Amino acid sequence: MRERFEAVVGPSGIVAGDELRARPATWTRPKEPCAAALLVRPKDTAELSAVLALCHEAGIGVVPRGGCTGLVDGILCGPGEIALSLERLTGIERVDPVAGTLVAHAGTTIAAVQEAAEAHGLIFPLDLGSRGSATVGGAIATNAGGLRVLRYGMMRDLVLGLEAVLADGTVLSSLKSLVKDNTGLDLRQLFIGTEGTLGIVTRAVLRLRPGPMGHATAMLACPGLDAAARVLARAQRRFQGRVLSFEGMWPGYYALMTAQGRFTPPLSREHPFYALVEIDCAGDEEPAFLSLMEEAMAEGEVLDAVIAASEEQRRSLWRIRESVELLDEGGFSRGYDVSVPLPALAAYVESVTRQVRAIRPGMDAIAFGHVGDNNIHWAITPAGDPVGDAAADEAVYGPLAALGGSVSAEHGIGITKRKALGLSRTAAEIAVMRAVKATLDPRGILNPGKVL
Ligand code: ZN
Repeated sequence: MRERFEAVVGPSGIVAGDELRARPATWTRPKEPCAAALLVRPKDTAELSAVLALCHEAGIGVVPRGGCTGLVDGILCGPGEIALSLERLTGIERVDPVAGTLVAHAGTTIAAVQEAAEAHGLIFPLDLGSRGSATVGGAIATNAGGLRVLRYGMMRDLVLGLEAVLADGTVLSSLKSLVKDNTGLDLRQLFIGTEGTLGIVTRAVLRLRPGPMGHATAMLACPGLDAAARVLARAQRRFQGRVLSFEGMWPGYYALMTAQGRFTPPLSREHPFYALVEIDCAGDEEPAFLSLMEEAMAEGEVLDAVIAASEEQRRSLWRIRESVELLDEGGFSRGYDVSVPLPALAAYVESVTRQVRAIRPGMDAIAFGHVGDNNIHWAITPAGDPVGDAAADEAVYGPLAALGGSVSAEHGIGITKRKALGLSRTAAEIAVMRAVKATLDPRGILNPGKVL
């Protein structure tokens, strides 16, 4: 098999043996080696097309790998499959600062795209903790979200055009930079958020935005999520939709982050809810931000607040929200990523926390996340046995269908959440997904066993 791929991509396009085993299976399995027969690294779209045509003809499964920062094992490979890396398809082809667009190859990191945009006085708004490793192709395939979705949308909202290769090697190129294009089916959407199951993205036209005028950032203590939601609505009205982030932290999260030896608590630990709010606002709008805080306090929506007076203070507030690796160290190693409509979110968090604590003595659940996007993450202590863990899954996922929520807000389905897909999508929807898959990838070679 190796010779046939080597004939297409050359010796430098193949990684095998110990060098391949040195690569991790997935982000969540760092000690498990990648099990693929080979890793193939085409250097351009033409080579990638030839690789897929070969796999299609021979019926070999192809598992695409981006920056390996996904959380649902979407890049897990079997021994008979090949791993496909776009690490040689990197670079930014062009930036148009007037139109606010950028064309990047799929293997380019998000950080490199951000830097290229900034060199032209603009920003690429998608921002993730994993920006230095996560790639354009991976972010498109998983429809990545992150910390600024409230203001700029998810990856889906930032892709104007793309080029993708289908299972049989057909190159589908739609690298237009049009904002408006009503010419039938929007084919881009077949590849955004479908985790490499319908085609492999090779290039994209991305949308750039003017950067914020400045940041007004505050950590708030609120009597509850509902009060915090009223502060968010107030801020959106006052600043005309310029709220960049509105992150929520329930007391368990705040207590863990500000425990002895960790971060100094900017607010006392006794409050029922904490929010981190950041607004795109110019320096001379500071009085408006202060009066917003005063109003919210007068209405009882905010009990206490700390406003960042410097960039260093702003960063230290953000560190409390971003240092999620401390959850793992604290024993909260089972993560979940769900959406619940805002009006139902507070009661949902309360009920799930109660149910998880009742599963086994010592079990606990911590909630935090992008509440402005109706998206929270759970960090739960493992039960130590499959029955207990299944009960935790049921506590988190069980109520979602009735609430109109989602089992995956931003992390995708991969393998990990496949069984839960039916809780968020109807049988008719899943049947359409299967029909599309069967049409575009009749031999089922693209990322086999993922999503569906
Ligand atoms: Zn998140």
